[in-house]
Amino acid sequence: MLYQRSSALFDEAYHYIPGGVNSPVRAFKSVGGVPIFMKSAKGAYMTDVDDNQYIEYINSWGPAILGHTHPEVLEAIKKQAENGFSYGTPTELETEIAKYIVENVPNIDQIRMVSSGTEACMSAIRLARGFTGRNKFIKFEGCYHGHSDSFLIKAGSGMATFGNPSSPGVTPGTAQDTLTATYNDFEQVEDLFRHNQGEIAAIIIEPVAGNMGCVLPENNFLQKLRTLCDENGALLIFDEVMTGFRLAFGGAQELYGVKADLVTFGKVIGGGLPVGAFAGRNEIMDHLAPKGAVYQAGTLSGNPLAMRAGLTTLQLIKKDENFYANLAKTTETLDFEIGKILNAKSIPHRINRKGSMMSLFFHVNAVSNFKEAADANHALFNNFFHQLLEKGIYLPPSGYETWFISDAIKETEIDKTLEVIRKFEYS
Ligand code: PLP
Repeated sequence: MLYQRSSALFDEAYHYIPGGVNSPVRAFKSVGGVPIFMKSAKGAYMTDVDDNQYIEYINSWGPAILGHTHPEVLEAIKKQAENGFSYGTPTELETEIAKYIVENVPNIDQIRMVSSGTEACMSAIRLARGFTGRNKFIKFEGCYHGHSDSFLIKAGSGMATFGNPSSPGVTPGTAQDTLTATYNDFEQVEDLFRHNQGEIAAIIIEPVAGNMGCVLPENNFLQKLRTLCDENGALLIFDEVMTGFRLAFGGAQELYGVKADLVTFGKVIGGGLPVGAFAGRNEIMDHLAPKGAVYQAGTLSGNPLAMRAGLTTLQLIKKDENFYANLAKTTETLDFEIGKILNAKSIPHRINRKGSMMSLFFHVNAVSNFKEAADANHALFNNFFHQLLEKGIYLPPSGYETWFISDAIKETEIDKTLEVIRKFEYS
């Protein structure tokens, strides 16, 4: 494939935008090479500025669960746009989508809209602190909750009591209130509670992790965290920015039957426009301004175009009673067939999968936490990524990312993907 125009655009972007991109993973730093500039996307396909076409497994990092530019969502956005893009006043539409979500997601009474997943998680932590009167919270190594300062903390040694800043600009003062533990290691979490009695406001977790590749909770991990939070007066926050409306209409709470105190959303909930949200029971949400004292606000929160795109997307999903079963079936087929091809080539690998999220790790052993994900052969993944890209299959450009399967991926796309993988040259 030729990428002449992409290369020229990247050179130009580099002058005016830090690193040439507006979000780091887009720069292909992990896999190497020059990022590809897209000009359009429809259904299961994206087309770049050099007119190359790709079957795609990023789907805007999750939002495009119906595939790109769904005609009914497009129509709904156009119709709304004719009535104005943003008012900065309340609208009936905001109540409509709030009611719809509250009625369909377990254990929430109220929801507050924001403009990104980062805002949602940042606000949920502030609310948890305001509600409990405690400062510290626990997150898991390899889980991403957006780029707010207190989340950019890596786990030190497993039992680290104080976090270390993992990005310059995060102060030690902020870092000391973020406690980190290994995903799926319940004893570590117990220890953190033991050593910080009465100080922990919340645990925040991706109930199925998608930011160290796809990693599943094991041995009733989520249920055990629920119990531990109850025993210690802490809140359990499910970051469902990825999993919300993707794994099930009621998200991971519904799928695993575990009740969260606060839930954050993003991605699918905005149907491809910038939206995030956080939600919970009345007794917690009532602490938010203007009713309560915990401040949170946003100029474009509840933006009518975004609300309409989100609500239409959710309604389209809900209308199809086989939606999630079909997505899961497509993903299972990809998993099994890719597995067969790689086995025939004697390439050690593991595929983690839940619903329409999956990741391929070139690893001989199971992957159930960040360290194991990091131990996978990422150089081989990068080679795999580039060989597929060259033949029109667009995977997320990093071995630490999840592939998002959309409803637009059908037999034709699966067959083409497998045909390309069959030609993968492993040396
Ligand atoms: N939480 C999770 C689980 C995510 O995957 C992401 C983004 O990928 C975020 C939060 C942050 O969302 P945003 O990029 O919209 O700020």
